[in-house]
Amino acid sequence: MGKMTGFLDYERVSNGDIPPQRRIRTFEEFHTPLDENRRREQAGRCMNCGVPLCQSAMVLSGMVTGCPLHNLIPEWNDQIWEGHDEHAFSRLAKTASFPEFTGRVCPALCEKACMCGQHGEPVTVRDNELFLIETAFAEGFIKPRIPAVRSGKKVAVVGSGPSGLAAADLLNRRGHSVTVFEREDRIGGLLMYGIPNMKLDKKVIARRQKLMEAEGVNFVTGFDVDSSEKADRLTSDFDAVILCCGAKQPRALSGTVRGLKGEEMPFGVSDVKGVHFAVDFLTQTTKRLLSCGSLESEALQKAGASWPSAGGKHVVVVGGGDTGNDCIGTVIRQGCSSVTALEMMSAPPVQRAPSNPWPEWPKVLKTDYGHEEGIFLYGKDPRIYETTVKDLIVNKKGELKKIRTVKVAFEGRVMKEVLGSEQVLPCDLLLIAAGFTGCQPYTAEAFGLERTERGTLSSHLHRTDRAGVFTAGDMRRGQSLVVWAIAEGRDCAREVDEFLMGYSEL
Ligand SMILES: Cc1cc2nc3c(=O)[nH]c(=O)nc-3n(C[C@H](O)[C@H](O)[C@H](O)COP(=O)(O)OP(=O)(O)OC[C@H]3O[C@@H](n4cnc5c(N)ncnc54)[C@H](O)[C@@H]3O)c2cc1C
Repeated sequence: MGKMTGFLDYERVSNGDIPPQRRIRTFEEFHTPLDENRRREQAGRCMNCGVPLCQSAMVLSGMVTGCPLHNLIPEWNDQIWEGHDEHAFSRLAKTASFPEFTGRVCPALCEKACMCGQHGEPVTVRDNELFLIETAFAEGFIKPRIPAVRSGKKVAVVGSGPSGLAAADLLNRRGHSVTVFEREDRIGGLLMYGIPNMKLDKKVIARRQKLMEAEGVNFVTGFDVDSSEKADRLTSDFDAVILCCGAKQPRALSGTVRGLKGEEMPFGVSDVKGVHFAVDFLTQTTKRLLSCGSLESEALQKAGASWPSAGGKHVVVVGGGDTGNDCIGTVIRQGCSSVTALEMMSAPPVQRAPSNPWPEWPKVLKTDYGHEEGIFLYGKDPRIYETTVKDLIVNKKGELKKIRTVKVAFEGRVMKEVLGSEQVLPCDLLLIAAGFTGCQPYTAEAFGLERTERGTLSSHLHRTDRAGVFTAGDMRRGQSLVVWAIAEGRDCAREVDEFLMGYSEL
């Protein structure tokens, strides 16, 4: 175990944050690492519990708590405390494909189940993980691991998000020849075009791509598998195909479009100028950022108006979840005039309710970086709860100018509008971050595969109904988390390996 009395001797100290007033001037990452001694103390807080729930991924009251990758957390915490970083990293690398991603963006399911959290503050598992992987890169512990023998089998992975990358990585290490096909100009899926740069610097993805290429993985970008001809070509050219195309079908917004005098307009919400789906908006921002060559907010603001910038606009985000938070952080950096986020549900409690005890996933209010920045700039939390959009109010050119909101209440599962609760807000940019309804249907159709009622790809474990075609990640599971996508990709790789070889060593 780390230090016998570590959890009593040291308080939890997380990585630092650059304060909002400084960090909103740039799209750079804003967490600052602890110095080495304090990091080792933090690892020394780990109690090496007899039953380490942190690595369990238990389902409690319908939600998972503990790491889905079953990372050997107490082992590497102990090794960090002892100062044996290389050994610690070797234990982390056994189960974690890309700690540089999860160490930055994972909501740390492990920490929610940490025994120290029962009466005090959990161990800083995610920050410790990030320390280890960054130390491993800096100290040269990570070198390309090129397979000594190739199996002669070829695998195509469609989609380069975390699930596709995890599957490709393991199958390549096993000696299969892997090609990853990605429709975008860069790899990474939502890691690249979704999660903003200030949460995950895109150089981190490029560094991993370089390593995987050196190990033999082949990446083909700008290749959309959008027809049955392309699907057939992949199934005939490769011994196995894995579909990891994500769950990017956005939930649309309902509402009536009205003119400034209240008259109903002859077009739908999606025709209004100034309405965008959150991921499209975040994608455009990152593309702009990467092409303008500077991470300074001012440079991006000057980059031109031919894309949906929030500069000088009143912004409303529909959806109070993590994607909504990323939108808030992004529009603030673009120089918006105001930002409001609408959430249909009630605000969760600040502290755990008695019906939600440790180690269940804590259903409590989370004030994330974007919310903090909104509070700093405008003096109040940008979230308004139990509220949705009723009307979009546009000028004659169809440009959004205002929205009418209404309070809602739930009777059982039925949502009802609260009479007389309507309000008009100025709004010239509306971002829809209301969740996803499964995978985009066209790839499934190209392969002749069915989608489930939830919009995910139908499969038995990871096998689809088409021989030799597998699936993993959000496409199979539905919209989830990076850590689950990686776990899915690894599990799927094992299944594909067994299919190709008759057994698996993965
Ligand atoms: C804005 C936002 C922020 C998020 N923040 C977090 C976070 O902080 N922490 C966290 O854990 N999770 C977060 N998530 C969720 C997380 O990003 C996803 O769960 C995860 O990326 C899913 O991985 P995936 O590999 O299954 O799919 P994706 O990452 O969606 O990747 C799918 C890839 O497939 C490609 N593709 C699709 N169809 C085709 C085709 N026909 N041909 C070729 N390529 C194709 C797509 O272009 C994409 O690159 C966030 C999600 C969003 C939307």
